[in-house]
Formats: sequence, C-alpha cells, structure tokens
Amino acid sequence: RLRPLIAGNWKMNGTGAALEQIARLRTLLEEAGDIDSEVLVCPPATLLHRAAQGAEGSPIHIGGQDCHADPSGAHTGDISASMLLDAGASHVIVGHSERRADHGETSQTVRAKAEAALAAGLVPIICVGETEAERLAGTANQVVGDQIDFSLPDTFGETTIIVAYEPVWAIGTGRTPTIEDIAQMHAHMRALLVAHFGGAGETALLLYGGSVKPSNAEEILRTANVNGALVGGASLLADDFFSIIVAA
Ligand code: 13P
Repeated sequence: RLRPLIAGNWKMNGTGAALEQIARLRTLLEEAGDIDSEVLVCPPATLLHRAAQGAEGSPIHIGGQDCHADPSGAHTGDISASMLLDAGASHVIVGHSERRADHGETSQTVRAKAEAALAAGLVPIICVGETEAERLAGTANQVVGDQIDFSLPDTFGETTIIVAYEPVWAIGTGRTPTIEDIAQMHAHMRALLVAHFGGAGETALLLYGGSVKPSNAEEILRTANVNGALVGGASLLADDFFSIIVAA
C-alpha cells in the first residue's frame, strides 16, 4: 500500500487567527503519535510563511495553492514556485478547477506550472475532474483522460506523481460520486499513468477531492487506487481534518 497523502486546501480562507488551526493540528498529531499518512496544509499565500514556521519540526507539510509558470518577472500579483519554496512550501496545487474556471487556465497552462514547480524543487499536485454536464453526457473518462494527457509534465524525475481527481460538481456541494464511480475513475487514471510513466505511474498518488468529510473519509480512502484526499471545507478546522487523517 502506498503511504496516503491527506492534503487540506484552505482556498481563499483564513487570516492570522487561522494559524491556531495549524497549532491545534500539530498538537493532535503529536498526541496521536504514529500516523500512517503524509499531512499537507495549503493555506492562502499570505499565511504560508507563518504556517510553515508554525509547522516546523512537526509532520505537517505546507503547500501553495497555485504558482506562476515563470521563475520571475513582470507578472503583477503572481507568485513563482521558488517563492513558495522560499516561504516554506514543499508542495503546490496546480490546475484546481477553481483556477481553471476563474483564471481561464488550460491544461497547457497547468502543465507549464507543474513543470515550474518541479524545476523549483516543489512537488506539484495536479488537479483534474469533470463538470456535472460532462458526467451526465457520459464523457467524464474522456475529459479526465485529456486533462491527464495535457496537464502532466513528460517526466517527474525522482518526484512522486500526485494527481487529484476532483469532480467539479462534488466540490463544496456535499455531493460525492458513488464509491463505484470513484473506484472506476481512479482505476482509469491509474491505467493512463502506468501507460505513460511505467513504474512511476504505479506509485503515483491518486487523491480524491470533493466534499470529503469525517463521515465519508474512511469509505472513500479504502477504495482501490485512492491514495489520499484533497480536502477543502473540512480542512479548515483542525479537529475535522484530523479525523480525516486518522481515517486514512
Ligand atoms: P470541498 O472539500 O470543500 O468540497 O473542496 C474540495 C476541493 O476543491 C479541494 O481542493
């Protein structure tokens, strides 16, 4: 079994007071002792450095939610992968459906960001997922397959490949696919990754995201080819997030 990754995506939530949640999560993890999962929190960029300081010496990794494809330059408001690394990040989410929708990111953009992350020494978490219309039209496999084909770099070197399957219609809605549908999509993704990357595809971490909460985490996380979760709303409170971590 691959060591699961439980990642929290705080999205555009949290000011300084939210750092208490990092401290609380740290305490919960320390009290629990041996945890069989990798733990990652992706706060907004404004909190990244302080969150990393608060997590130092703990099992909590800190990640960014996006990065620019260029290493530096005239891109007002953007943040490069090396800046995230410098602020204390080890990972970065790229291609989240909210960025694909709000910022017009294409799979080609996402691939360039993932390549920039790898070049800077960050682990990219590449997000894919169909819309509800696409699922109803029966094209979910095709859409996710295309996103995988076009959003992933050609090589990851020694870095573990991490792909998060987040059906757009399951994000923040309280709705999730059936366990059978999750298993089907994750098996489809695994087959594509093995075909493209061989052994690195076998050991790729396939995260499920979309309305993961303490009450459904265990069932989702024991599904074949689900190697972790990308958690939005339920990652904002350390106690909820911890419940998901121990479910893995
Ligand atoms: P929710 O867990 O709030 O549905 O969000 C999922 C998500 O988009 C994580 O990246």
